[in-house]
Amino acid sequence: MSIWERRTTVETRVGDVGVGGSNPVRVQSMTNTDTADVQSTAQQIVDLALAGSELVRVTVNNDASARAVPEIVARVRDAGLDVPVIGDFHYNGHLLLTKYPEAARALAKYRINPGNVGTSRRDENFTRIVEVALEHGKPVRIGVNWGSLDQRLLTEMMDANARAAEPKGAKAVLLDAIVESAMRSAALAEEVGLPHDHIILSAKVSVVPDLVKVYELLAPLSDYPLHLGLTEAGMGAKGIVATTAGLAPLLMKGIGDTIRVSLTPKPGGDRAEEVRVAQQILQSLAIRSFEPQVTSCPGCGRTTSTFFQEMAEEITGYIRERMPEWRSLYPGVEEMDVAVMGCVVNGPGESKHANLGISLPGTFEEPKAPVYVDGEHYTTLKGEGLVDEFKTILDDYVRTHYGA
Ligand code: SF4
Repeated sequence: MSIWERRTTVETRVGDVGVGGSNPVRVQSMTNTDTADVQSTAQQIVDLALAGSELVRVTVNNDASARAVPEIVARVRDAGLDVPVIGDFHYNGHLLLTKYPEAARALAKYRINPGNVGTSRRDENFTRIVEVALEHGKPVRIGVNWGSLDQRLLTEMMDANARAAEPKGAKAVLLDAIVESAMRSAALAEEVGLPHDHIILSAKVSVVPDLVKVYELLAPLSDYPLHLGLTEAGMGAKGIVATTAGLAPLLMKGIGDTIRVSLTPKPGGDRAEEVRVAQQILQSLAIRSFEPQVTSCPGCGRTTSTFFQEMAEEITGYIRERMPEWRSLYPGVEEMDVAVMGCVVNGPGESKHANLGISLPGTFEEPKAPVYVDGEHYTTLKGEGLVDEFKTILDDYVRTHYGA
């Protein structure tokens, strides 16, 4: 359904999930449990997958976590989910993947950070990971991050820039070095023998304009699928807004084949929030649809009761609750628009733009709420039972418009 022309990329298969090519932009996430804790990690992967994460990454940072991987993947499969589980490696990935072939086999993809594969034996360590990937037929993501950029490469490029006739600023060289690190690493992986369609690239930074710039530089250089994400996005509104501000201009240019929203959760917070935010970014940009969208106004001095906010929340929750059943019974329902509006100023107009809309009366001194179906006035609801009556109209609409 995307209205944006996508950058042309090869398809990389990650387990049973295709990334790039003609596949939809994939939503992915990462666990924050101790991977050595099989039960917690398997459960979080299941929770993330059920929330809609199409790929889930786990850190594999030591012997205990590498030993746990096969059992984690087995438990996820026992839960009836075939979501690909990806291993995130830093510093010792070459050692762990060599020592634990069962983990190497169970993982659907390896993430390699070229800045974190060692300094003196950098290329040998990188090559070793690629050899394991080749041996097991796995793809890799070459994930460059400016927080762990290959310092040797950066120094080399800074020195060359200093000698240039027209030197660039330090920030521009840094972004160039991120791109160069990704491209050189991909070339090395192919020299080792990894097929071209077994490579995904990412180049993450934590500042929005720099993120846009670095992907604009990276995108034209290859047809590898790109993984997008604002690294270390932060908490709450800051993390959500910054991520959206960074990803949206790129996605609208067709750049990006899979996205991850790297929110810092509150202690004990719901990890699946990052999946819902990623889905909402894609749906707001008309790239993919995941659930019917509820349009509601902010309310103002014309809404002298909280009824309108309560109804908007109730309908949003009702739709989310019904979606598991609706998704299986009513294909296409995720593209539906529902409007719950506060008063007559914009209520009727906005309701007519939606598939189904209700324009509440604002002050409730005259509790009449016209309902619109596909742009036409359908009925007018009155009194306190109107929320339930509106849900009945919503159920009927879904059944009659999306049923087989
Ligand atoms: Fe205010 Fe009415 Fe506009 Fe909602 S639709 S913001 S209640 S004027």
